[in-house]
Amino acid sequence: MSGTTRKPWEITGSAPLEPDVGPVDDGGPCGIGQCDRDATYRVAWPHFGSDEALCPFHLCRFRAHHGEVWSQMRELDVEDPDAHAVRGQRFVTLDEVPDQVAVDGEKMNRVALGVDGLALFDSAEPDDGMVLFATVNRRLEPVESTKVARSQAGRFVLWYRDHEGVYRWDPDAQAALYGGEPADV
Ligand SMILES: [Zn+2]
Repeated sequence: MSGTTRKPWEITGSAPLEPDVGPVDDGGPCGIGQCDRDATYRVAWPHFGSDEALCPFHLCRFRAHHGEVWSQMRELDVEDPDAHAVRGQRFVTLDEVPDQVAVDGEKMNRVALGVDGLALFDSAEPDDGMVLFATVNRRLEPVESTKVARSQAGRFVLWYRDHEGVYRWDPDAQAALYGGEPADV
C-alpha cells in the first residue's frame, strides 16, 4: 500500500469482485441462518456470486449439493476444502443414516439427524428401565453416549432438540414424540 497516490475513489471498483475462498481462522458464525456453529471454511456462493463462511456440517452439505462449484474451488490455489468437509465423518441427509445400528452390541433405532451431522440413536430393546442414547458418525462409530431412565427418555430427546439441534427426525421417532403417545411418560 505504501507509495500509492491513488485516492479512495480511484481505488474503489478497481479490483474484480471475486469470492474470497479458503479456511476461516477467526471463528465467526456459520453463514447459514439458524446455525450457531463456528465457521471453518469460506466457499463461493453459487447464486449470488459472493462467498459465505460455513461450519463443517454445512460445508459437508454444500459439497453434496454444489458439486460443480466445489470442483472449481478445488482448482483454486487454496487449502483443499475436502480436508474440511470430510472431517468428523458427518451425515448429510437422513436417508444416509441406517434405520438400525449396533452400539457395543446393543441394537439401536434411529431417532434423528442432528445439525452437527451426527445421527442420534436410542435402545431398540431397553433393559432394566434404562435407555441408551448414542450419537454416531458416518462410519457408524459412536461419538457420545449416555444412559437415561426410560421415564426420562422423551425429556432427553427434547433436550437434544433444544441444545444440539435436529436437522431431520426419523418419521417413527417424530410420531412417537409428537403424536399419539403421552407427552410426559
Ligand atoms: Zn452451519
